[in-house]
Amino acid sequence: MKKDYTCMTDMKDCVVVGAGAAGMSAALTLARARRSTLVIDAGRQSNLVAAEIGGLLGHDRRPPDGFYAEGRAQLLAYPSVELHLSEVTHSVREEDGSFDVTFGDGRRERARSMVLAPGVDYRYPQLPGMDERWGGAVFHCPFCHGWEVADRPLGVLATGAVGVHGALNLRAWSDQITVLTNGGALTDRQREQLAIGGVGWDERPISVLDGPGNDLRAAVFADGGEIPLGALLVKSTLYQRSSLARDLGASLSEPDEMLSVEAIKVDAMCRTGVPGLYAAGDAATSVPPSMAAAVASGYLAGAAAVVQLAAGY
Ligand SMILES: Cc1cc2nc3c(=O)[nH]c(=O)nc-3n(C[C@H](O)[C@H](O)[C@H](O)COP(=O)(O)OP(=O)(O)OC[C@H]3O[C@@H](n4cnc5c(N)ncnc54)[C@H](O)[C@@H]3O)c2cc1C
Repeated sequence: MKKDYTCMTDMKDCVVVGAGAAGMSAALTLARARRSTLVIDAGRQSNLVAAEIGGLLGHDRRPPDGFYAEGRAQLLAYPSVELHLSEVTHSVREEDGSFDVTFGDGRRERARSMVLAPGVDYRYPQLPGMDERWGGAVFHCPFCHGWEVADRPLGVLATGAVGVHGALNLRAWSDQITVLTNGGALTDRQREQLAIGGVGWDERPISVLDGPGNDLRAAVFADGGEIPLGALLVKSTLYQRSSLARDLGASLSEPDEMLSVEAIKVDAMCRTGVPGLYAAGDAATSVPPSMAAAVASGYLAGAAAVVQLAAGY
């Protein structure tokens, strides 16, 4: 079939999908190697809802939008980088190994390599009062938000081994912890583990999370009872935001109970196994997701792409 490249400019060295911590880190590495780099971003970084970034050295407790604005400014200081606000809707790897990339706004480009850094969709159990507190009083990662909610009465919304593990871990931040199973049942062994660890549990179904504004005061149970809470840790599962990686032939892992990530499989240099295709950040994580890990993997993906481009394949 004849292709319409009328909207296309020259072949880029690399297209980076996503300008979060991972994509911008990859792009910076490519820029500093003087590679023509097009970064496409839909502008929905996962932590934008949070007030601050916790635990990123050099940026600890900084509002996320300031971090991203500075990252974009640093990238645009390099002449070989272009940042385009749009969404990659489709991509095909051509016979010559290049990537044909189509954007939501109709623009179309071709690139010798591609870094996928589109982040993930964090899905968590749905309860009334949850969404408006996500990224604040409702959090998924104690390393990101534990400091801010320390010493409050904390709930852990999870059941099974995950609930036990999450609650025992959370003791670094509070000694008032309760596992809330929302109607699920713990085993006798799990109750024993919690009791030994000084953690409470409540297996009643929850009807609503209550509190003034976006603060949390209590979880209210379906039977009308309630438990005071200053914050709630929820287990979230991370899914790909689109079929882009699959469409390009990358392999993905299935989320399992403990590490709940549908991740693009990569090697230590963020290579997907598809020549020229790299993946970084949450979308390819095999460790608990964080800004620090995203910056690090983006750097590796960018470096791997630079090496490939220099070798001319
Ligand atoms: C609520 C919340 C709070 C968090 N707080 C912290 C914290 O305090 N400390 C910490 O270390 N970690 C925190 N994290 C985790 C951290 O935000 C992530 O690990 C990190 O943002 C991952 O970076 P990323 O670049 O992989 O993805 P993202 O930051 O999600 O960026 C991906 C970008 O790609 C774009 N994109 C997606 N698909 C496409 C497409 N097809 N075309 C173009 N663009 C696309 C998105 O719109 C987005 O802008 C938090 C996560 C959440 C959900």
